[in-house]
Amino acid sequence: EHANIPVRPVFSTLPSYAAGKPPAPVEGLTQYKLSSNENPLGPVPEVARLLAEFVTVHRYPDPLSTALRHKLSARLGVDADDIVTGAGSLGALNQILKTFAGVNADGVQDEVIYAWRSFEAYPILVGIMGARSVQVPNLPDGSHDLDAMAAAITNRTRLILVCTPNNPTGPALTYEEIAGFVADIPDDVMIIVDEAYIDFATKPGVRTAVPLIEEYPNVIVMRTFSKAHALAGVRVGYAIGDPEVIGAIQALLVPFGVNSLALAAALASLKDAEGVQRAVSEIIAERERIIPALRDLGYDIPDSQSNFYLIRGDVYGLVEACARVGLIVRPFRVGVRVSVGSREQNDRFLAVAAEFARTEGIGA
Ligand code: PMP
Repeated sequence: EHANIPVRPVFSTLPSYAAGKPPAPVEGLTQYKLSSNENPLGPVPEVARLLAEFVTVHRYPDPLSTALRHKLSARLGVDADDIVTGAGSLGALNQILKTFAGVNADGVQDEVIYAWRSFEAYPILVGIMGARSVQVPNLPDGSHDLDAMAAAITNRTRLILVCTPNNPTGPALTYEEIAGFVADIPDDVMIIVDEAYIDFATKPGVRTAVPLIEEYPNVIVMRTFSKAHALAGVRVGYAIGDPEVIGAIQALLVPFGVNSLALAAALASLKDAEGVQRAVSEIIAERERIIPALRDLGYDIPDSQSNFYLIRGDVYGLVEACARVGLIVRPFRVGVRVSVGSREQNDRFLAVAAEFARTEGIGA
């Protein structure tokens, strides 16, 4: 007997979020997940210390994340009222979309523009709101085609998502590129700059878009504690923007969305900025070691400013070859995405990739 409960028709149209799925473990082999762009090094020691002693779980969290917002405000040089927190940046993005895009009473759908390929959650979240996705193909190097994105604006466009560095392709936009883009966008279209991976960017000119919020109330920057801070499991992220815009998003929040453990862990991590930076630098160094080695083997990899890289072409056999040695990597239509792991994990991947290139040929 099936439940006969009507859900909104939009659900039958949504792509599903294919979270990195684990292959069967191989006997005697530690399995490593390089499919979700996690930080392989874990959080700074202060986080573990705090979580071990955290007992006030019988209390509700501060619904306004006051302490965290103030700490972030000092860090970022913005007002605490310019910041709203969420359960991961996905939580924040969900609230932003809910605030600005949907389907109107006359049935007309708002339009949300973003690059494609980009983060796979975008079409799902946009679809849930009832809004329409307008996907603008990446340039051949995997970066955003900002001119085409600006040209895709219609009078129904409510929001543009800019992912930099872009998941899953890897390239990032410079501050000047973003500033130039923003200057050309009508002031009633929101521009969301998703900086989930910005801490891993090293390319000259790539830096946060936060300074733009002062001049442009239609710009929101999204950040997360999931990547550089290695707190993906506790779910905390935030958005930075004009206080009126942030206030509107805050007003729609599900109360207590960011839990007390997450708030405490984020604050603890912020205390050890050097420790966080050390881990980030180690991941960047591994990326700079591994990508040239893979390119030398003939693999086609776009520039990565992130903690992952995309191997393009017909390389799907790699996914299976990896699974046989306990490595989980992520296949996409555009190629196979591999998260930068620890040195040992990366070496294991490099060995598989070398063997695969030798035996299968990769058409390079
Ligand atoms: N933005 C991008 C581009 C991502 O790749 C991810 C996670 N993979 C997120 C946002 C969401 O991260 P979280 O919700 O953990 O902050």
